[in-house]
Parts: sequence; structure tokens; C-alpha cells
Amino acid sequence: MNAPINIAGLLKKTKDVFNFHGGVHLPEHKAQSNQLPIGQLPLPDQLVLPLRQHIGNMPKVKVAVGDHVLKGQLIAEAEGSVSAAIHAPTSGTIAAIADAVLPHPSGLPDRCITITPDGNDTWIERHPQDWRKGDVNTLVNSLRLSGIVGLGGAAFPTQIKLRSNRSPIHTLVINAAECEPYITCDDMLMRERYDQVVHGIEVAQRLLGAKNIMIGIEDNKPEAVKAMQAAVENTDIQVKVVPTVYPSGDARRLVYLVLGKEVPQNKRSTEFGVQVFNVATVLALYRYFEFGEPAISRIVSMTGNVNQAQNFEVLFGTPLRHLVKAAGGAKADTSHYIMGGPMMGFNLPSEDVPITKAANCIIAASSTLFEPPPPAMPCIRCSRCADACPVSLQPQELYWFAKSDNFEKAQDYNLFDCIECGACSYVCPSDIPLVQYYRYAKSEVIALDKAQEAADLARERNEFRLARIEREKQERTAKHAARAQGAKAAKVAGNSDSKPAATDKQAAIAAAIARAKAQKETDSAAPKNTTEMSAATKAEIAETDSRRVAAGLTEEKSPAADNDKQAKIVAAIARAKAQKEDVSKVSVSGDDKTTKPVVDADRQAKIDAAIKQAKVAKAEAGKEKTSGNNDGQLMVDADKQAKIDAAIKRAKAAKSAALTAKNKEDN
Ligand code: SF4
Ligand code: SF4
Repeated sequence: MNAPINIAGLLKKTKDVFNFHGGVHLPEHKAQSNQLPIGQLPLPDQLVLPLRQHIGNMPKVKVAVGDHVLKGQLIAEAEGSVSAAIHAPTSGTIAAIADAVLPHPSGLPDRCITITPDGNDTWIERHPQDWRKGDVNTLVNSLRLSGIVGLGGAAFPTQIKLRSNRSPIHTLVINAAECEPYITCDDMLMRERYDQVVHGIEVAQRLLGAKNIMIGIEDNKPEAVKAMQAAVENTDIQVKVVPTVYPSGDARRLVYLVLGKEVPQNKRSTEFGVQVFNVATVLALYRYFEFGEPAISRIVSMTGNVNQAQNFEVLFGTPLRHLVKAAGGAKADTSHYIMGGPMMGFNLPSEDVPITKAANCIIAASSTLFEPPPPAMPCIRCSRCADACPVSLQPQELYWFAKSDNFEKAQDYNLFDCIECGACSYVCPSDIPLVQYYRYAKSEVIALDKAQEAADLARERNEFRLARIEREKQERTAKHAARAQGAKAAKVAGNSDSKPAATDKQAAIAAAIARAKAQKETDSAAPKNTTEMSAATKAEIAETDSRRVAAGLTEEKSPAADNDKQAKIVAAIARAKAQKEDVSKVSVSGDDKTTKPVVDADRQAKIDAAIKQAKVAKAEAGKEKTSGNNDGQLMVDADKQAKIDAAIKRAKAAKSAALTAKNKEDN
């Protein structure tokens, strides 16, 4: 009886590889550079090694100008947790440690170490390690000295991805998709060095403790697929042939292609037990442990508008013009050079820039190979960009928000999930440079965030400063209170014989208090001195007082009266006394027997005259009245009567003033 057909197994096989959303099919241009074996370059005249070739901190320089170094010698060590070391790619002399132009989109110079090769290419003593049996932590820690970074283009320090404090890894995916046009370095590596690649995968598997290993290779590399399938025949490693669709080489897309698992944009694949390494990176791991060779070179595709496109093993720091020369030179119409692929690469500022760890491909560009983009037309809302987006974004919406500087809305539409693959721009019928808009929006958001961070920091610093000032104030207050307490204690000690003698400090405090008291007493005695004020002042005050009394104003005595008030009172008393003394006669009224007030003789004369005048006027008025004025009206002139009234008033006021003064004196 025949065994039953394993339907489930067949289904599994047909669903072996999964397709992700979106993606585009691009002209490949790979055959240009994969026809010749990997070439070796002669030593250049100089090697320029940028310190910043990786993601993370700049390493610390360990050599000085004039030092002689050997091939593989550490010349800059990793600084901080995320960093990578730099080694001399050949033996020679340190010619300079200075700024030089870098292969970077900014085109800005940065710190580099320049080595003049001595031509001997002498290796430093190498220390291979037993990666099959050695302690995993020791092996991983030693990678800090290897200088190995991700060679797929990201240049992330490899030891970070292998650290023991990461999540447990059950699956290792080797990225050999190499999806960008023109690039063939991984293809050639697998074709020629498949055995070392397999050993490299075994190294990574041991260090990670992964159980499942699979290599993802696009189906446009049949020779590499064949070589790798043969190399892994007696191992548990699986070769997964994935469809040629851009961007299958993106780590998340490749994980989905080979495992059918979608890694969210805000998560890492390691959180799901999956780690991804580039195929060239695992080979570098193998060479480091097996032969003690640090990262000093890589395979680079030199292609495009050159006479003989080819892959070369290139020492880091080799000038680009040296590589171009090895590829038969650039054609006459070469306009510039692109590092990376045509989709995600960037233009290089000159032929003088060095080859770095991230340089997987250099494309000599011309207007024939890369036609200048036509002018952008308005968006017609065709949504082709959305169909092509591998991250399932809405590129047309992101474009509108970025164009109108509505960054908040752009973030709501997951701007930072965009991997800048350029698939949307590639399919856009309006030729809108969409990725440029996204890069612009991202840089603006990052700049705004940094500004906000700086403002928050400034606010925190100000709050801290205010808190410090308040704290110091409280400390001062407490200090003063303690001092006052001490002074009090010293005083008590000084006053009591039975108590122990005060210290010098307490005595000083007591003396200070005594001085303050004496000063206070002096100040309180000051009003007494007003009695010694000048006669002119006294007279002026007295006159003012007199006027106030004449005006009918009265003052209540107050114990809190100020010195001026006291002086006025004294002056008024003095004036009354003087008046009393000056008046020689005291007249007594015969009518009511009351004592008349003491008045100035002249003033009394004036009063008497005024009264007399008033009496005369009254008599005249009476005479006129009795002489037969029929209408009964007074014949006295109104002006005259007013003057008489005023005179009477003045006389009464003077009399009142004299009385008041006397009363005050009696009191
Ligand atoms: S593909 Fe271009 S024209 Fe079409 S919706 Fe997207 S941005 Fe607009
Ligand atoms: S560049 Fe961004 S928006 Fe455009 S297709 Fe790629 S991931 Fe999507």
C-alpha cells in the first residue's frame, strides 16, 4: 500500500516564500560587473581612513603622525558602547591625522588618519580564536577590537548585535538578496567564497544560539544560489530563493519573505527572536576568529560608466580614483559617482574620497545612464505610489503634508516608518521627487525636536537655579538664626557669674548688641535737641502755630507726635510766655469783672480803634435812621459796613488767640 501524500508538507513547500506588499521591478544592470572574478588592487600611494565610518561614536586615535604601523594594527579604538575600531589596512607610516573630504551626502570634511604604505604589507601578529569551543561571551567581547560593522551598507557595529543582553534568538536570517540594481558584490562573494560564508554563518549561529538558519537570495543570482545550496548540503542551513522585487533586501521585507512574519516598524526583529546579518558580515566574522584578521577590506562593485566593471577586494581608505583606474578608468562622459545603488545611494563629492566600510558599490554615472529627471508635475492622485510602497504608507498624503510643512500630520501618517526606498518616486507618473520631500520633513521634525529638547533643558536648568537660590536663602536664614541664638546665649552667660564664661565669639556678639543699643538710645534722645533750635526757626514755627489757631484749627496732643510737632508746641508756649512778659498792664473789665487777656499793646490799640470806629459808624447809622428815612433802609455804605465787620472779626480772633495761648500755658 502506497504511503499517503503529505498534503500539509506540499502546502508548506508552496508557501515556502511569502510576498510582501508593494515593491517594484527595476532594470537590474547586474551583468555588467559579475562577469569577472573578484579582482585585487595594487597598493595605492596613500590610504585615508575616516574615523567615522560607522553608526555610533567616533573612535579614539591611538597613533601619532610619524608612527610606523603594521597591517592589522589598531590605530583607533572603539569609544563608548556603540562604536567601531579602525585598523591599518597595510604597513606604513602615519602621514597625517587631519580633516579630509568624506564619502557622505553632506560632502563635509571630517577627521581622518592618512597612512603612507611602505610597500611591504607586513602583518601584525595575529591571534585566532577557537570560535567552535571558546566562551561565547569572551568571543563576543573580543569583537570590540575587530572593527567589524554591517557590510550591507548600514555600518552598524556588529558586536552590538551579538551582545548577550539581547533577546533570545531562535532564527538567523542571512541577507544575500542584494536587491538594488548594479550591485553584485554579495553575488560574487557567494560564488567564490561560499565555504567561508558557511563558516561565517556557523560562527554567528554559535554566538547567537540560533536554531534555524536561512539564507535569502534573490532568484536573479542563480550561480550564487547554486553555490550556496551546494555549500550547505550537509548542514541545517536553508537557502531561500526569493523573488526579485525591490526592496527585498530591506531586513523587515526579507524576514517576511522567508518567514512570513511581519515585524512592525516600531519594533526590532530581535524582539521576535529573529536576527539578520549581511552575508559579507558573517564572512568577516569568520576571518576575524579563524585568522585573527580585523576588518581592513571589503568587496566593492565598481560599475556603471567605466571601461571594465568588476568587483574588487579593496582596502579601506583606498582613494576612489585608484579603484576607478583599476576598472579601466571612467568613460569620457562620466559626470559623477554614486555610492550604493541608484535607488538609495548618494552622489560623491569627488574622486578623492576614500572607500569606507559602508561602500558596497560605486557607480560611475553619466547622463546616458541616468537621465536628468523631468520637471515635476502636479499630483493626479493616481495612488500608484501607495500601491508600490512596501511599508503600506500613503506616499501621496505624506507628500502633501511635507510640502505644506504640516509635519504633525505627516507624523500622524507614519512619516518615520518610511525607509526611503524610492519605490513611490520610481512609479510616480508626475515625476515628483517624493523621497526628497520625506527627507526634508524628517530633517525638519528632527531639528524641531532638538530645539524643543534644548528649550526643555534650558527650562530645567533655570528651575534648578531657582531652587538652588531658594535653598541658599534658607541656609542663610538658618545660619543667621543660629548666630542670634549664639549671641543670646553669650549674653546670658556674660550676665551670670555662676555660668561659664562666654567664648570670644559670644563676647563679640554681646559687644555688638551693646553698641546697637547705645545707638538706639542716642537716636531716641534726638528730639530733645529741638529745644536748641535757632530763634528764627522757633519764631517761624510759632507764627505758623498762631495762624493755625487763628484759623480755628485745633490739635490733639499725641504721645507719638513727631519732633516738629513738639517743637511747634514748645515754640507756641515760648511765644505766649513772651507775650505775657511784654504786656505791662493787665486791664480788668468794669462790666463783667473778668480778666482781660494779655495782648500786645499795639494790637490792643488797633482793636480799640476798630471798636471805636464801629461804634461811631453804628451811631451815625442810628442817627440817619431817626432822621426820617421812610423806606427804613440803612444809609450805611455797604463797603464800609464790610470793613467794620472784618475789623470786628480780626479783633475777636486776636482775643481768642490770646485766650487759647493763656489756657495752654495754664495747662
Ligand atoms: S504616484 Fe505621484 S501622482 Fe500618483 S498619487 Fe502618488 S504622488 Fe500623486
Ligand atoms: S520611499 Fe517611503 S513612502 Fe515611498 S515607497 Fe518607500 S517606504 Fe513607501
